[in-house]
Amino acid sequence: MSGPVEPKDAACQDEVLAGIEVREGREAAVGGMRIARVLPTKGRRTVGAWCFTDLILPADAVDPDPMEVGPHPHIGLATVTWLLDGEAVHSDSLGTEQAIRPGQLSLMTAGHGIAHAELGAPAPLRGVQLWIAQPDATRHGAAAFEHHAELPRVDLDNAEATVLIGALGDAMSPARADTPLVGAEVTLRAGTTRVPTRCAFEYAVVPLDGTIKVGDHIVEHGWLALVPPDAASIPIDATADGARCMVLGGAPLGTPVLMWWNFVGRDRDEITAAWQSWRNHDDDRFGPVRSQLGRIDAPAPPWHRTG
Ligand code: MN
Repeated sequence: MSGPVEPKDAACQDEVLAGIEVREGREAAVGGMRIARVLPTKGRRTVGAWCFTDLILPADAVDPDPMEVGPHPHIGLATVTWLLDGEAVHSDSLGTEQAIRPGQLSLMTAGHGIAHAELGAPAPLRGVQLWIAQPDATRHGAAAFEHHAELPRVDLDNAEATVLIGALGDAMSPARADTPLVGAEVTLRAGTTRVPTRCAFEYAVVPLDGTIKVGDHIVEHGWLALVPPDAASIPIDATADGARCMVLGGAPLGTPVLMWWNFVGRDRDEITAAWQSWRNHDDDRFGPVRSQLGRIDAPAPPWHRTG
């Protein structure tokens, strides 16, 4: 398929920075890990096509549980795994078995259906897991997996960015993007960095290390800053060298998505059909995954009546 349609940039202005909002994430436990879910958040389900962001928090136990997420299905989304510390192995129903290390991008596209498992090495793990909602053009299509061990970097005025997806400055990621979007890890030096934007994009800034300031707002670890479209740039302040954040952006999706469990769709019937396929071990849709971990059963959708 050809590349995503690029949105036309409107006139950029700095006044929109007054519209920046910050939100606190919610802590939870997922697959043996402590996480902070910063997206979706209250009143906001997507930023561009980014529809889910979990920060994997440092394990606080003396004997931490490793990341153990057994085989489970996805539809209608791409998953991004981005580690800061530790190592994990991804295996999926395409037959992929891929070690994931810090600074490397694993991008799994579910389309009509995929199943996968993730097993962390017995070492402290930190990172971020993100989902990207697929557009109608690809969300019923084939599943795929990409791993990028090398990603382009770009010097910003007071920072260096690694571009996971999309383009930032003159660096462009080789990773697949089904909608116009950007995802970058930005390592800040003390002072202010102005992250370049596309005017038509809305953005989120997620601190990874240290506390930062986005516009006039202090954004603590486990929180999220939302930047409205039409910003000429995003001013990010760090008080010390080495603060890190993730910058996520994209053209507003323009269509509401329905997310339930591990599925992203548009309506309940689609989600129910995927749930039934997983429950019925439908190998045509969600093939087997080679993993030592147990298969994860889906709860029934809340709208589904049995009996
Ligand atoms: Mn998953």
